[in-house]
Amino acid sequence: ADVIVSVSPEFEDCKEIAQRAQDHIPGGVNSPVRSFKSVGGTPLFIQRGKGSRIWDADGNELVDYVGSWGPLILGHAHDSVVEAVERALGKGLTFGAPTEGEVELAKMIVDALPSVDMVRLVSSGTEATMSAIRAARAFTGRSKIVKFAGCYHGHNDGLLVEAGSGGATYSIPNSAGVPEGYARETLVADYNDVNSVQRLFDSHPAEIAAVILEPVAANMGVVPPAPGFLEGLRLLTANNDALLIFDEVITGFRVAYGGAQTLYGIVPDLTCLGKIIGGGCRWGPTAEGGMSWSGSAPGQYVPGWHTVRKPACGNGGDSNPQGLAAPGTYEGLEAASARLADGLAAAALKAEVPLTINRVGSIMTAFFNGGPVEGWDSVAASDRERYSAYFHLMLERGVYLAPSPFEAAFVSTAHTPEDIGATLEAAEYALARV
Ligand code: PLP
Repeated sequence: ADVIVSVSPEFEDCKEIAQRAQDHIPGGVNSPVRSFKSVGGTPLFIQRGKGSRIWDADGNELVDYVGSWGPLILGHAHDSVVEAVERALGKGLTFGAPTEGEVELAKMIVDALPSVDMVRLVSSGTEATMSAIRAARAFTGRSKIVKFAGCYHGHNDGLLVEAGSGGATYSIPNSAGVPEGYARETLVADYNDVNSVQRLFDSHPAEIAAVILEPVAANMGVVPPAPGFLEGLRLLTANNDALLIFDEVITGFRVAYGGAQTLYGIVPDLTCLGKIIGGGCRWGPTAEGGMSWSGSAPGQYVPGWHTVRKPACGNGGDSNPQGLAAPGTYEGLEAASARLADGLAAAALKAEVPLTINRVGSIMTAFFNGGPVEGWDSVAASDRERYSAYFHLMLERGVYLAPSPFEAAFVSTAHTPEDIGATLEAAEYALARV
């Protein structure tokens, strides 16, 4: 396989744009992880993408494993997605009135996900989790929610909190500008530790509206649910009259067509979707769906207000799930991803670098960590400096990984055997040098 060599490894044009960005955008980026703060160096400014490849402002062609953080399961600018969006755009951008495309997309989601009877479409994953939590609070008449350290659910005030020491009862906001009062309504438990959730139910009887989690954690790097974890949460929430919310913004249509709930056979009460159902449109639809209780009791209907419903992306979204339902899609993703993970493990062994690879289908993280990685504590024990060195060496060899050690790598249907081969050659080179 060809190792792709950067045409301008100095990234001069990217650096020049980054300089200008500092003048006009706080921190020079519109989302913190893009800043390269955790790996050092200057963020790449991307000009275009096609299939498995992206091109930066210097003209460097790179094999991309960020995939816009998950939506691009068909790769960049897939013809069917681009055509569907163009077709819809030609008919008008937004109407402030319902369209038939929304109904079809909702039906597709209901058909795909066992837990979802009805869907409300919103505009971002952040709004999906916000709406799900509001619905859970209204339904239960309770205010507290439980989240897990290391799980990310968008930038809602009440969810931007992390654990205090040792699964503390109350958490502290991890962003300035989040009032402590908001954070106080969020209790933080340890991922893969049902007992930590049990303790919160014990210390806050009849106060917890819902437990929200990524059923496969992907925002602290990939951490799969341990056997019994999801089952335990299902039982615990049911026994305490609280709701179980699966945030499948990453895992929906990714780890299986029907999401993690299908893969693991656990039916949550509410599901949040995003990313893939938007067909890769950053302005695409996302959804929050669950049991159809709205309006069943007076005063319990929870409205959502949205000025802009985008029919274009209702249709653009269609083409992503439709393309994915084709036979063999997930088998192909599994085979390519398994080859990548196995090859990385072999390269690490050869280079005598301790590496733990967690993978569920086409999402994976290679942690520079010798032990099992099962939750935030073991994630945080990974060697961050080694990852930074690895990241830059991979970039030098034409492979674009997440500019942070605690993110997933996303494999798409556009990654060819040659891409995987080139990536493994690059990894051999990089691992021998970290
Ligand atoms: N939930 C999860 C699991 C996510 O990974 C993200 C985004 O990365 C969100 C929610 C928020 O989605 P959005 O960025 O569309 O607001």
